[in-house]
Amino acid sequence: MDVRPTKLELIGQERLRIEWSDATHSEYTIRQLRDACPCATCREKRRAEPPSPTELPVLSAAEAAPLRVLGMKPVGSYAYSIQFSDGHNTGIYTLEHLRQLGTGAAE
Ligand SMILES: [Zn+2]
Repeated sequence: MDVRPTKLELIGQERLRIEWSDATHSEYTIRQLRDACPCATCREKRRAEPPSPTELPVLSAAEAAPLRVLGMKPVGSYAYSIQFSDGHNTGIYTLEHLRQLGTGAAE
């Protein structure tokens, strides 16, 4: 894949914008990125049965606080790991995955 991010930018606290070397850009909400976390634990969680609608999920303090991105670290030349404010940082987001995620948000 030849397209590279040229700029990573947080917009306020709740959105991330990536500018790409092909002059396009993608925008994500932090929640959207977190929900798309590709690590094994999160994939397993998404596969699990959704909780019963009459049962309110119990959120930990970290989960209930507004979600933020604290940092993004390049992994090799093809991916980023994202450090979320809920303490989660095991997801490796490939550039391809980020491009796909951002498709719907393109202007
Ligand atoms: Zn994860």
